[in-house]
Amino acid sequence: MQKVTLNEEMQRTLQIKETEMSFSHWIRSFRHTAQHRLQRALHQLLTEGLQEESVQLMDKNSSRKYQCKMMHLTNGQIAFSLKGRGEESTCSESSPLSSDQEKNKPLPLNEPISNHSSRRMTHLSHAESTQLKTRMGHLVDKFPHGLALINHDWELTYANPKMEEVTGFSFLKNYFKKLWDIFPVNEHYNFFQQYLRAMETQETVEFEGFIPNTDTNVQVTVHPTEIGITVFVQDITIYKRHLQALKESEERFALLANNIKDVFWISQPDFKELHYVSPSFQKMFGISRREAFLNPEILMRHVYKADQSALQEAFDQMSVKENEVEYRIKDSENRMKWIRTKGFPVEYNGHSYVLGIHEDVTEYKEMLELKEKSQQLSTITQMSAGIAHEIKNPLTAIKGFLQIGAANPELRDNYQEIILDEVNRIEAIVQDFMMLSKPKSSIQLEQVDPEQLVSYVLRLLEPEANEKQIYLLLECDTIQDNIETEPKRLNQILINLVKNAIDAVDLGGEVRVIIRMSTQELTLSVKDNGPGLTPQELAKIGEPFFTTKEKGTGLGVMVTKKIISDLNGKITYESQKGRGTTVTVTLPK
Ligand code: ADP
Ligand code: MG
Repeated sequence: MQKVTLNEEMQRTLQIKETEMSFSHWIRSFRHTAQHRLQRALHQLLTEGLQEESVQLMDKNSSRKYQCKMMHLTNGQIAFSLKGRGEESTCSESSPLSSDQEKNKPLPLNEPISNHSSRRMTHLSHAESTQLKTRMGHLVDKFPHGLALINHDWELTYANPKMEEVTGFSFLKNYFKKLWDIFPVNEHYNFFQQYLRAMETQETVEFEGFIPNTDTNVQVTVHPTEIGITVFVQDITIYKRHLQALKESEERFALLANNIKDVFWISQPDFKELHYVSPSFQKMFGISRREAFLNPEILMRHVYKADQSALQEAFDQMSVKENEVEYRIKDSENRMKWIRTKGFPVEYNGHSYVLGIHEDVTEYKEMLELKEKSQQLSTITQMSAGIAHEIKNPLTAIKGFLQIGAANPELRDNYQEIILDEVNRIEAIVQDFMMLSKPKSSIQLEQVDPEQLVSYVLRLLEPEANEKQIYLLLECDTIQDNIETEPKRLNQILINLVKNAIDAVDLGGEVRVIIRMSTQELTLSVKDNGPGLTPQELAKIGEPFFTTKEKGTGLGVMVTKKIISDLNGKITYESQKGRGTTVTVTLPK
């Protein structure tokens, strides 16, 4: 809304009492044709970067003629002066293009103008005028949105360059034409309807439209003013296109998320709030998505007790770096399922999230188990052949000696010892083999004091060590803690390893067993200063029937490895030719 402030002379000349009024009110002081002329001249002044403009006006009441001069002031306002019969009166109007801040300032017009009413307006300095021109030019040309003024008679009185670009019309020749002569109503019906609404209701109207001429989507804001309406047009084609692309990609994502069997999820890093979980979640876990959103921790309740801490640990890790975990759950029908959960942290818009996938790996696990079983089966077949072979040799020898003994009873005593040796060998093989076939399910866990157990085994093997004058040593951490394991199997492990070490070292050598404890695991090392192993031997160790000993079975290490894996432990060999061997076993506590 443009306000006009009048000085005394202006009030007197036009016989108006008010010192302040709207521009449209003030302009009605002149005749109709004069009003048009004034508006057009004002428009030229605004759009053509002129500094001043003048126009002939005629008073409505007294039919007096005036020369009206209008010019830009540095503060963005416009000063009008009327000259008729040698007098001069002034008023000013805030520029329609001036900023809001300036618009809202009280207009101090009668100060600068009335104080200098005797002065000609052209006395504004050159610097000031260039500044104004650039400013106006800048405002109009660089204004990033389309801007148009339409008066109450539906005539287009102004449009900026951007408006020409957006609409694809040249407006210069169309000023003061009716809007419908420029834009056919049937093609722009929506626009007309909204403009009409703004004019009639005197309310700002906002809407989205499409300009067929330039294939442009626009956001239109229509402000009613004293002289009609001001139309702002913002090109939102690119925004619309992005929105469409976003919608499409969202739809694609939904399609994917709704159809993959795997569950996709997004969570808060502390897993206390779930942002998204795909529909297959319900089927996999037997928990509704609603339940999961309301209480993300509900998942944990379906997880096997033994696997809960592993899952929790993996979740904690995921907020820092990528992590993966496999665990068992009970689904809605109480069936056991293996789930693999992968997740990693992401940063988005300054917020941290964890993104992940749940996969049902039950079938995969079953297949793996089957494969392992079939592998075991084939090792057993292989081994049976090996065992048959291993047993056949001593058996042939026994049979041979027995036959000789039967034929020559006087020689029988000579072969007694050889036969016993061969029988012992068969017994050792059968013992080892029986250990191998013991199922994991037969494990019976007990609280075991490792130091006690190791010293028991060492005492057991002492006679053998003494024979070779070998030192058996025990080194132990100060921390004394029990572990949960099966003592029989742990005994077997130690016997096998210490025996091998005794076999390996020379007369007067040394075998050292070291016990180390951490909060999580027990580490047992069997260290000898024997001849060590070549890399080839190291690669072969643990293979069935690999032995370098005359009376060896080549089953000891293999059996040891099997028992350790049944107890969920690990074994490593460290050895160099001539430097001794260290075997390290780690078992969970
Ligand atoms: P066996 O003791 O009946 O030979 P094992 O499976 O126990 O069978 O051992 C296989 C082979 O591994 C041994 O014959 C030996 O060559 C090698 N070996 C095992 N432990 C050691 C060790 N501490 N030092 C050197 N060699 C070893
Ligand atoms: Mg052995």
